[in-house]
Amino acid sequence: MAITSDWHIHTHCSCDSACMEFETLINNAKKHGITDFGVSDHYHTRLQEADIAASRVEFDKAIENHPELKGRFHFGIEATPMSKWEVDKIAHGEYSEKPTYGIRHGGPANAPVIFDFDDEFIEKYKIEYIVTGVHWPMYCDTDLQSLLSEYHRQYMFAATHPYTDILAHYTWYDTNVYPDVKNPFADFSRVSETMRSELKHALLENKVALELNGFVLSEHTSGLLPKTFVDEYLGWFADMQKSGVIIAQGCDCHYKDLSKVNYDSISKIYEHYGIDTDKFYCL
Ligand SMILES: [Zn+2]
Ligand SMILES: [Zn+2]
Repeated sequence: MAITSDWHIHTHCSCDSACMEFETLINNAKKHGITDFGVSDHYHTRLQEADIAASRVEFDKAIENHPELKGRFHFGIEATPMSKWEVDKIAHGEYSEKPTYGIRHGGPANAPVIFDFDDEFIEKYKIEYIVTGVHWPMYCDTDLQSLLSEYHRQYMFAATHPYTDILAHYTWYDTNVYPDVKNPFADFSRVSETMRSELKHALLENKVALELNGFVLSEHTSGLLPKTFVDEYLGWFADMQKSGVIIAQGCDCHYKDLSKVNYDSISKIYEHYGIDTDKFYCL
């Protein structure tokens, strides 16, 4: 069946290269048959509070101009788990380079992971849902096992945190963080049965949805990573769904419009692997 929802979309309010205007997002969603969707700009630390404030103002304006979208178009954020070490440093102004993405060097390995926001923040910006995206390892060693363990630690933090509604882009790896280190997730079989099982139980117990992410899918379907990954990865999503885990659609678009998101072909790929889009997450 057709995909009719999308919960991971960035706008020009995001701190990165995302550049979509709200009006474009609304028009494009309509064109693609996306009836239930949300905006989810990045929030790493308190330095992005201004971005979320701007996003909220534009969201309110958009709903005012499109009252028919009330209850269908939602306001969310994409939150990043951060090292408590860097959150504290940023809170005290103890940094030299601008830490838009946190302080990405010099921290202790295995420091506690936290979100740099609280209930008050959620209430202030009337945040309806939170997509949590793990974006980087926290100063761990760069051998394969250390990276896999570090990502698992953060995925478990995300999946068990009461703020998380959707776990974004599972296994997405930013090759810019350590340019010399190969993607530890290039082979999905490296994610052990124990890690998969722990994550599944955490998602089920905490009613957190697992996202099928546009970035991860395009990296794998464009041949950047082996086809065996796609088979194993999407087969695993189908199994997760059969076990009761809610799957969420997230294109993770950072472009000026949704023209590069082909919901028709994505839904056919999902269908091929036995993933039921009718049971997708919806707010
Ligand atoms: Zn992300
Ligand atoms: Zn994103």
